[in-house]
Amino acid sequence: MHDLMIVGSGPAGISAALTAKARNMDFIWFGSRSLSNKIEKAEKIMNYPGLPGVTGKQMQDIFLQQIDDSGITITQSQVNSIYDFGEYFAAGAENEIYEARTVILTVGMATTREIEGEARLLGSGVSYCATCDGALYKNKEIAVVCSSPKYEQEISFLSDIASHIYLFTTYKNVNIHKDNITWYLGLPSCINGDARVSSVTFKGNEIPVSGVFFLKDSINPGVLLSGLDMADGHIIVNRAQETSIKGVFAAGDCTGRPYQYTKATGEGNVAVHSALEYLKQHKYNNK
Ligand SMILES: Cc1cc2nc3c(=O)[nH]c(=O)nc-3n(C[C@H](O)[C@H](O)[C@H](O)COP(=O)(O)OP(=O)(O)OC[C@H]3O[C@@H](n4cnc5c(N)ncnc54)[C@H](O)[C@@H]3O)c2cc1C
Repeated sequence: MHDLMIVGSGPAGISAALTAKARNMDFIWFGSRSLSNKIEKAEKIMNYPGLPGVTGKQMQDIFLQQIDDSGITITQSQVNSIYDFGEYFAAGAENEIYEARTVILTVGMATTREIEGEARLLGSGVSYCATCDGALYKNKEIAVVCSSPKYEQEISFLSDIASHIYLFTTYKNVNIHKDNITWYLGLPSCINGDARVSSVTFKGNEIPVSGVFFLKDSINPGVLLSGLDMADGHIIVNRAQETSIKGVFAAGDCTGRPYQYTKATGEGNVAVHSALEYLKQHKYNNK
């Protein structure tokens, strides 16, 4: 049981992790060592204090150096679900369960929109985790909706289990070619089924499938943690970065505009102070 779980490794998550470390908290941090696409892809950053005209790649290297120098570990797993048990929270990430008394969501904004039926059928044929749920689809026909070539290894894993994969990508240069994969450029408009997934609709055609895997960087926070109050795709927070769920805080792009590094890092810092205050009030520790 950790004091804090931070989900997301963009500027908001980095700032939260550095602050949690400085305050000597016991925390676990989920993300990746590439940190964030939105850092890596930036051409030139003119408005980050102390790093004038830095490229995204340079900023990524500087952040990583600071994380390593601080002795912080990034748990390189995607969190697929978070459950609220009142006194604590449990997160499912690639077949493991992690627990913490507080949560800071710094998950950024999803670049792919949610598809009709996705949230409703989550856990009933819709999955965000190939490793966790792939085995359920042995010799079955499934759909995979993929937002980045970095997930193609997972598609390969699924293609060894499923009889056929209908692959929908948001990018053109697909590098995975197997006899049992049919590739379409674009997203299905709808996932169909009453109690369970039965098909997907693409360009007006219904394709029967038993399950749909979404392989993408960011899951809608309202789906990740049910009960979060959202508005226009953003998590509603107050100035202390508190969400509608006690013990859960949010920071960065996922809380709303402007989408900026400095806003994200500032909110990440505030969220940790609020988590500390929450822990103190609940007498979990004295820090
Ligand atoms: C090309 C480009 C250029 C930009 N230039 C500037 C600029 O010059 N100045 C400026 O101020 N802003 C700029 N921005 C905006 C800035 O990048 C964002 O505001 C900032 O990155 C937001 O940080 P964040 O931490 O909220 O989210 P993100 O940077 O989006 O990071 C979120 C991270 O969390 C991870 N994550 C999400 N869900 C999960 C999960 N369930 N489990 C584990 N990890 C998860 C994601 O993979 C991602 O790595 C630019 C953005 C782009 C795309």
